[in-house]
Amino acid sequence: MARSVFVLTGAGISAESGLGTFRDKDGQGIWARFDPMKLATPEAFTRDPDNALGFYNLRRRNLLNAKPNAAHQALARLEQALAERGGHLTLVTQNIDDLHERAGSRRVIHMHGELLKARCQHCGSVRLWAEDLSPSDVCPDCGRVGGLRPHVVWFGEMPLFMDDIDRALRRADLFVAIGTSGAVYPAAGFVAEARGYRVRTCEINLEAADNADLFDEERLGPASETVPAWVDELLGA
Ligand SMILES: [Zn+2]
Repeated sequence: MARSVFVLTGAGISAESGLGTFRDKDGQGIWARFDPMKLATPEAFTRDPDNALGFYNLRRRNLLNAKPNAAHQALARLEQALAERGGHLTLVTQNIDDLHERAGSRRVIHMHGELLKARCQHCGSVRLWAEDLSPSDVCPDCGRVGGLRPHVVWFGEMPLFMDDIDRALRRADLFVAIGTSGAVYPAAGFVAEARGYRVRTCEINLEAADNADLFDEERLGPASETVPAWVDELLGA
């Protein structure tokens, strides 16, 4: 059995919790009304903070009404079971939601930041923030106005924890990508990196990702079914 498992999750794992993915084909939900490419950038925040913050206020409210699903719960179970057996789960997510944590995962690496945190552009402080953000908010740490933004990685900004991620990939013996499109770098490159380290690779997805040919194994279907089944299999093996 794999002892050191590296799991990367993307929007596909949270879709069944009611949080829209960036690449929905039906064009429903908040994505139909907003163009994230024009909102999720530092320039957009500078140019029109009301609009950029409003977009994230909507997403935050959506998130507070969402609940983790069976796929999130299965990964929390996997973390605990591996730890009990002397193994280790590294859980890296591209998602800015907190559904892994709410499902019971103890350690989650949010490479694209966290929607329920705010960061001050003036002093750099990061705080839990479950309320709407507005350009008139005062930073509780430095007292200045207009610097509070969602603690999320925008287009054109560096993802977080890349060194930790590389170290974990290097020592993994199984890499699993769940619900990722395979189109957003650098996360889309992790599978090639894992292969370079001779780590076995597996994709679990609703439909095959853009980089599906790089995986040793592929399991297709809704995450709430495929992920618990995979965890059962892995722990039973
Ligand atoms: Zn501040």
